[in-house]
Amino acid sequence: MHTKHYADEAVIDKYVERIGHLLKRNPNYRGLSVTWYGGEPLTGLRAIRKASQRLIECCRRNRYDYLSDMITNGLSLKPKVFQTLVAECEVKRYQITLDGTAESHDQRRMTKRGAPTFDIILQNIVYVTRTEIYSHHNYEISIRVNIDKTNHRYATPLIYLIKARHLQEKVSMYFTAVVDLGSNDAGKDSLDADFFAEEEVEWLYLCYENGIRVRILPERVHSVCTVENKDSEVYDALGNMYACWEFPYDKVYSQGESRIGNLFDSPATYNPNASLRNWAAVVDSGKTGRKSCVHLPVCGGGCPKSWHEGKSACPPFKFNYKGKLLLDYYIRKTRAKKPLEVPGAMSQKTA
Ligand code: SF4
Repeated sequence: MHTKHYADEAVIDKYVERIGHLLKRNPNYRGLSVTWYGGEPLTGLRAIRKASQRLIECCRRNRYDYLSDMITNGLSLKPKVFQTLVAECEVKRYQITLDGTAESHDQRRMTKRGAPTFDIILQNIVYVTRTEIYSHHNYEISIRVNIDKTNHRYATPLIYLIKARHLQEKVSMYFTAVVDLGSNDAGKDSLDADFFAEEEVEWLYLCYENGIRVRILPERVHSVCTVENKDSEVYDALGNMYACWEFPYDKVYSQGESRIGNLFDSPATYNPNASLRNWAAVVDSGKTGRKSCVHLPVCGGGCPKSWHEGKSACPPFKFNYKGKLLLDYYIRKTRAKKPLEVPGAMSQKTA
C-alpha cells in the first residue's frame, strides 16, 4: 500500500463522524482502538496528529477509553517524533519490522534513493527506549521479524544484536513467516511451514535466554481480525472503507465488492456484505475445513483473505505446539531468574 495521499481536514471530519456513529450505535462499547497503518504512517504525521486530537476529544467528551498503536518501519521514529506521538496522539504501542540484521534487511528495505535503513531504525529504537517517558510509562516497541528463505539465517544474529544493544527488557520480539498477502508476490520465497515452525521455537528459546520478552503460547481469541467485527473498519486517506487491512490501494481489492463504501457517500450506499465481512458465516458453514480444528480457539481460523484466495492460513502453532508447550513449561520452571513473557502484548498484526 504505497500512496502519496494524506487525509485532509474533510476526510478527518468524516472519520470522526463515522466513528462517533459506530460508538453510539452500540451502547456496550467502552472505548475506541485505533491502529495507524499503511505504507508508512509517519509520512502522514500531520494528518495523524489532527485526526488523533479530534478522536481523543470525541472519546473524552463521551467518556470512552482511547487506545492507539502504530505499525511503522521505524525510520522516522526519532525521540522527538515519539514524544509527539505519545503526548498528542496517545500512541502507546509500536510495531517495527526488521527483516533480520543489516545484511538481509538492507537488501529489501531501502530508502527511495536506495540507501540502507537498518542502522537508522535500530539507532532510533535505542534512542526512543532511552527516553525518560519510554522507561517510566507502559509504552512498548515490538519488533516483528519477517522471515523467509532468503533471511532466516539472520534471525539468530539479530537476537544477539538486540541483546548487544541492551534492548532486552525494553522491546519484545516475534517472528512471522512471510506469506503472499497483497498482489506483490511477497510469498514467492516463503519457507516450508514445518521448517519455519521448528526454527521459531529455537528463536523464541534464544530470546528468552537472552532476556528478550516474547510470547510463547497464543491466547484464546474470539475473532480472527477486523473482518469479523462489523464495527471494525479500515479507512484510507480518500475516505474509502474496507473490512481488511490489506485492501486499501491494492490493485485488486481496493474496488468493487471489497469496498464497504466511501465516507463521502450516503450510508444507504454502504455494502454490509463487502468481501470477507461475513467470514464468521463462512467458518460456520464448514467450507474452509477449519471448524473442527482443535487449534481454532487460539488461532481464530487464520487470515480470512488467505483462505479466500485458496491459500492455507494455518499458523505455525499448529506445527510447533508441542515444542512451544515444552518451552512454556521450561520458562515457568526457570521464570524466577528471567524476564517474563510479553505482558498484554500489542495484538500482533497477522497480515
Ligand atoms: S488477517 Fe488477513 S483478512 Fe484479516 S486484516 Fe489481516 S490480511 Fe485482512
